[in-house]
Amino acid sequence: MAEGVSVLLLQPPAIKPAGPPLGLAVLLGYLRRQGIEAQALDANVAAYRYLLQPERLVAMAPAKVNTSLRRAIKNLARSWALLTSPAACRSFARYQSAVQHLNTALGVYRGVDGDERLTLGDYRHGGRSEFSPHNLQQLAAGEASTLFSAYFAEELLPAVAARNPRLIALSINYRHQLLPAFELAGMLRRALPGVILVAGGGMLTSWREELEKASDALLPFDHLVFGPGEEALLRLANEEVGEFFLEGSTCLSFEPDFSGLAPDDYLSPEPVLPLTASRGCYWKGCLFCPEAVAPTHPYRSCAPAEVPDLLLALAQQWQVRHFHFTDNALPVPVLKALAARREDLAGLSWYGFVRFEAALAESKLVDQLAAAGCRMLQLGLESGSQSVLDHLGKGTSVTTAAAVLSTLHQTGIATYVYVMFGIPDETEEDRRATLRFLEEHADAIGYLNLAIMNLPHQSELAAGRTPTVETGGEKAPRGLYLTGAAEQQRRSDARRFIQQELLASPAIRTIVNRTPPLFTSDHAFFFDKPKG
Ligand code: SF4
Repeated sequence: MAEGVSVLLLQPPAIKPAGPPLGLAVLLGYLRRQGIEAQALDANVAAYRYLLQPERLVAMAPAKVNTSLRRAIKNLARSWALLTSPAACRSFARYQSAVQHLNTALGVYRGVDGDERLTLGDYRHGGRSEFSPHNLQQLAAGEASTLFSAYFAEELLPAVAARNPRLIALSINYRHQLLPAFELAGMLRRALPGVILVAGGGMLTSWREELEKASDALLPFDHLVFGPGEEALLRLANEEVGEFFLEGSTCLSFEPDFSGLAPDDYLSPEPVLPLTASRGCYWKGCLFCPEAVAPTHPYRSCAPAEVPDLLLALAQQWQVRHFHFTDNALPVPVLKALAARREDLAGLSWYGFVRFEAALAESKLVDQLAAAGCRMLQLGLESGSQSVLDHLGKGTSVTTAAAVLSTLHQTGIATYVYVMFGIPDETEEDRRATLRFLEEHADAIGYLNLAIMNLPHQSELAAGRTPTVETGGEKAPRGLYLTGAAEQQRRSDARRFIQQELLASPAIRTIVNRTPPLFTSDHAFFFDKPKG
């Protein structure tokens, strides 16, 4: 066989296929700059493409097809084409139908036992738990399967073998990736026994303590990297390494390389490239947030002045105009650096998360950000009750939040606001304060995400609560969040409030109804004139 690549970076399914995976692109950029011959392969978007081929769906569909499935299959090619063209944003109704058709079509795949479910952003296996080491082992050993098996065997394995890699690294950041990733790793191990198999990513890093106690649960991998993978992968590419667990990097890279991750391959009205100006969170104070409670890597930021140059270089290299900052919260110095380069950045557009910082209530800065291409900002309000915000450690005030929303609205920067219910000790009055805040500021809120709080079991907020955690039926706690009867009650009270009171408000319902289904903020950015 011809000499192959040194490192192949792989993104396993299943996550939303809205844009290239930044984690892979950052590692690829780093390794290539160090002289390593590396490639990246996004098996997530490729799996969706494979499963959404009309002839495959027709073959998989049951003999008696219901009307919505028949329509979905008939409109499949048209729906995919619409969602990958600017025309997607001309009619919200057509956009919604296209998303619905693709999602309905995916419902054809139920797996061997009929208990699996794949959507455009989610994957569930009714018979196997991603939190069970035993189930993960069954997948890796080929004793169980997922609905991705055929894609792995027919398309992915030959594509990997053709690259003849010395090392394959799987990036596992979300729970929905775990079962497919372990199945894929087992298939790779059997098909390519000499290859070094490495796993890393936020999901596995969050299990660090448990995994270190039970390394046998991680077969078929040869190595596991906790935290950022740059230096560990470089070492593995250059030398024989004995340790199973490898420490993540302290030196972090910010320059992605999207080679092999074509931006126009994704379900997006126009290509959008992800980038980040920081890793971790500069605030780290919110008691409910994994970034504060169980961070998977330390906070680091790019030099602010370098961020506009990075944006311009990526736009030039990949011929893309739209960008998604994936920072947990864009630091204010970075926002100021972008604003200062507004003339250079004119013609580009970008969005990302910010905190409700007082600086964003200043119209001069916000006007400059709009001129620098800022099209939408995502903001975690969480609650309209000041006592809840204080209790959560948000470090923001309801008054500042109102002022920021008003300034952004006046400047024409869309806002995507996140609120939560079911916060421990939240009273009926607190919930109503949130409702009132949303109604009073409805004109300034473009899009809304209504969530029910998941409570990390390590959080101070969980103190005194029954520490029941998802375990996948085994001893070791693998779930990050509390479960159990009390938690279910808290969640169902919150759900009732959202359904019966919050959504009874016409102003709030209007905002919720214009929020793009499934792709949410990934596509909201394109609907730049919020519809009322
Ligand atoms: S600002 Fe956001 S990322 Fe940072 S701790 Fe709070 S919720 Fe988490």
